[in-house]
Amino acid sequence: MTNKDLANLIFPNITKTVEDYEKEYPERNLKEGACVTRFAPSPTGYMHLGGFFQALIDFTIANNTDGVFYLRNEDTDQKREVEKAVELITSTLNHYNIVPDEYEYNGETKGNYGPYIQSERKEIYHAFIKHLIEIGRAYPCFCTKDEIDEMRHTQEERKMRPGYYGRYARCNTLSVEEAINKIKNKEPYVIRFRSNGNFENKIIFNDLVKGRLHLNENDIDDVIMKSDNLLPTYHFAHVVDDHLMHTTHVIRGDEWLSSVPLHLQLFHELGFKAPKYAHIAPIMKNDDGNKRKLSKRKDPEAAVSYYHEEGIPADAVVEYLLNIANSTFEPWRRANPNKPVEEFDLQLNKMSVSGAVFDMVKLLDVSKNVISKYTAEKIYEETLKWAEKYNQEFAKLLKENKDYSIKVLNIERGKAKPRKDIAKWSDVENTIEYMYNDIFENMNDYEFQKINDEAEIKDILNSYIEKHFNISDDKETWFNKMKDLAEEKGYAREVKEYKANPEAYKGHVGDISTVIRVALTTRHNTPDLYEIMQVLGKEEVEKRIQDFIG
Ligand code: GLU
Repeated sequence: MTNKDLANLIFPNITKTVEDYEKEYPERNLKEGACVTRFAPSPTGYMHLGGFFQALIDFTIANNTDGVFYLRNEDTDQKREVEKAVELITSTLNHYNIVPDEYEYNGETKGNYGPYIQSERKEIYHAFIKHLIEIGRAYPCFCTKDEIDEMRHTQEERKMRPGYYGRYARCNTLSVEEAINKIKNKEPYVIRFRSNGNFENKIIFNDLVKGRLHLNENDIDDVIMKSDNLLPTYHFAHVVDDHLMHTTHVIRGDEWLSSVPLHLQLFHELGFKAPKYAHIAPIMKNDDGNKRKLSKRKDPEAAVSYYHEEGIPADAVVEYLLNIANSTFEPWRRANPNKPVEEFDLQLNKMSVSGAVFDMVKLLDVSKNVISKYTAEKIYEETLKWAEKYNQEFAKLLKENKDYSIKVLNIERGKAKPRKDIAKWSDVENTIEYMYNDIFENMNDYEFQKINDEAEIKDILNSYIEKHFNISDDKETWFNKMKDLAEEKGYAREVKEYKANPEAYKGHVGDISTVIRVALTTRHNTPDLYEIMQVLGKEEVEKRIQDFIG
């Protein structure tokens, strides 16, 4: 009896060989230097920002090199609910414009290297496992869960390294006959890789993010095929897939770094060239001065869905993530304020080894900048889209007042220095609500500042509306009248004058305009008052001021 007999007994129906598959998945015809990357999530129904970050890096690297970026669903752990999870991944990537060149979704496949769903690749894996059994580099293991637990326990007691290796790898030494008999007796088994490594040896490995590393050689006979669904484990599946799909760069979370020695052995034993690896550290967060991982449990912003819910535009999230991916992004952006992010040349070796730090304040800042470049129409559309999902009442208001709303959103926009007070669509309502008469009528929290004596306020408003207000004034005339009013009431025409001689005045023109601003909006901090008055119109300005005086 030979290994071949054992392999045939385990996989009687697998007739295709490794060579057959090599022919089915030929070399990709790409230009020199093109990178083939993939995003390979396990569909869990939750999208962590860290996973999304990896997808963005994958996408950008492929894009920068005219390569290929594909999506592979790693669903070999079938206990989880898959369908909705795949939908979440796909819709998220689409929302952020990170569209894979190859994927499989809803029965539709794009690309020649599929299936792109691991559970549909079972036969392929079996052919490669069969091959490893034939050449003596894989074997069935009949140890029960209890036996494995017991072994672990013994290793712990003896302060030994845990794992199925050396003399702990009991089934490694079973003869082919013994193994065949056990299988014929229907004893359940998994398939393990037969490692010939020595833990005392060091291997040198060049990671594209972490640099040159010295790692211990693998000597553990890891499970490569599970007993329940006969699907491979991640270790084995990724080796076969990344080989057949001709991935050039495996960009993944650094929790896999310790498995690299095993993976390199698997590539070697299968006769494949290993891809380049880039292990990305998790995204970190400052928590009371301590750096820690962004956590699904503790941080709502760890979920990509959070950004949709808050209405942070997709471009802003992408822009910010590239910012923390490479410190060279910021100077690049400064030099190229209007270039699309796709043109940024991302470098893996410039990524943080210990983990990029995520900072919400900075993200919102980036977002304010991104939004400041949008047109009022775009802001209207995006806000409406967001509001229809998360703030229906506001959506209704926007829809009923489309043209007016665009005018409102256009205040201080499309200029050299556009307004930057909106960081997310959920901010919009608060920044413009006073412009709607129905809402304004119910607002009564007036934020008067320096001038807050009621009689004084009413006197200023009265004079303004009677003597100075004219909706047809241009901005300069309008402002000069504000100065006239200031002077009339004992305030300096210019801030400068006031500062030079504060005793001589009650205040300055800014204090006067603040009174008018607050009377018209309730707020002391708003965009350009002249523009606000133009959009409100003559009647509404007069009404608001008169109502206030009354
Ligand atoms: N399915 C693996 C995970 O979710 C993918 C790792 C990889 O990209 O190779 O962590």
